[in-house]
Amino acid sequence: MSENKKLTSRMLKGLAKKIGGCGEGGEIVGVAPISRFSEAPERMHPLNIFPDCKSVISIVMPIPRSAYRGITEGTHWNNYTYYSYNRLNTVFRPIVTDELARFIEAHGFEAVPVYPGVVEMYQENPDPVPGRPVPDVNINVRIAAMACGLGEIGWSKVFLHPVFGPRVRIGNILTDAELEADPLIKPGTICKRCMKCVPDCPGNAIPGKDGSKITIKIDDQEYSWGDVHMGRCTATHHGINYKCSPFLKRYFPGLNLDIENTNMSEELAYKITHALGGASWYRPNPEFPGKMVNPYIKQIMTHCGYMANCGAKGCIRSCMEFQEKAHNIEQDEFKTPVFPGPKWKLQPPEADETGGIVEKKALTEFFQDPDIDAGQWS
Ligand code: SF4
Ligand code: SF4
Repeated sequence: MSENKKLTSRMLKGLAKKIGGCGEGGEIVGVAPISRFSEAPERMHPLNIFPDCKSVISIVMPIPRSAYRGITEGTHWNNYTYYSYNRLNTVFRPIVTDELARFIEAHGFEAVPVYPGVVEMYQENPDPVPGRPVPDVNINVRIAAMACGLGEIGWSKVFLHPVFGPRVRIGNILTDAELEADPLIKPGTICKRCMKCVPDCPGNAIPGKDGSKITIKIDDQEYSWGDVHMGRCTATHHGINYKCSPFLKRYFPGLNLDIENTNMSEELAYKITHALGGASWYRPNPEFPGKMVNPYIKQIMTHCGYMANCGAKGCIRSCMEFQEKAHNIEQDEFKTPVFPGPKWKLQPPEADETGGIVEKKALTEFFQDPDIDAGQWS
């Protein structure tokens, strides 16, 4: 058997910076010994994916701050979903993970690149083989990044980085190389419990400061964050909360679901939002001219598989606003504030003086058009 070549955390960090292209600002790679996962549940434990794992590596890549423009203006949604969610998570960020994994393998160690799947799924389902964990073990990438000393999970459940604040995406590699570990960042270093994220979440998904929270221990540090209501968050983020979705108002005029108080599960919210976003209707009419129930969402869903509708207004943008104003993160200063204008939210349909988007006049004209046989719609 051939000898492993020398491999250090420093070598990996240097390579990541070269490929990741984040300038001089901030560390984008962190390393944890597997012992920091001793409290992890079976379904999230790295050893259940790679039993020889000795070190867990986390890699973050920043979301471009300007990608929220357009949503902040209330005019354009595709950029954020496409570049900063979908492609950042599925293409740009994994390029660094993939290069590092191959670099580690070139030194004779194994390197399991882990796709950041949804760990909350299927919690209630029994294990199909007694004594064995479910086949869909997934690492919680935010907890892993904390264990790797790259930042901490804020009250909003979003991972916060000392330089980029709440705007990062995360990837992981599991390796049997024993690498030098990074120190943990102390709880409360980045999340100052300002609670700005709470009222700005259009879904009322982030609990107030006395609400329920999740607490975990990593080595001697205890980290807590709000127990975010994932049904409300998913329903809002994926487009059925009128407050932040002009598409809902445009294509479902009058629909007012009480998302802020709903107790629907995350899974149900996914089922409803994705079914509506991708659905077609059998006959066009002047109120809903195309066959797609929601053409705009269908368009972006075709490219991304979903639509990030609320633009993370509370959990990312308001936190970003706080972090920048408080000079609590080390990113370069921007001339323009995170919210350059007022923070908008839409009126409930019943308070909307248009009564919906399509004017009655348009309907009347449509049925008077001699080229249209109105009878076919009856
Ligand atoms: S993604 Fe939107 S709904 Fe979910 S917590 Fe963030 S601001 Fe609230
Ligand atoms: S806005 Fe950010 S810093 Fe403030 S409580 Fe929320 S997560 Fe913490």
